[in-house]
Amino acid sequence: MKVRIDPDLCIACGMCEEICPEVFELGEHETAQVINKPDGNEDAVLDAADSCPTNAIETEE
Ligand code: SF4
Repeated sequence: MKVRIDPDLCIACGMCEEICPEVFELGEHETAQVINKPDGNEDAVLDAADSCPTNAIETEE
């Protein structure tokens, strides 16, 4: 699986990091970042993508 965050859509709400901190990090950044490959965390990544209020998380098989 591939995952990326569209920085133009991300509003830095922190939801993705809350759901899957292994892959997403907000930290001090203006937008969330992908910090690891989603391998092994696919379900949480998909959950985060579904929960993102602006649909900024794009996944691809
Ligand atoms: S859930 Fe979406 S809008 Fe919120 S920080 Fe993550 S990518 Fe950005």
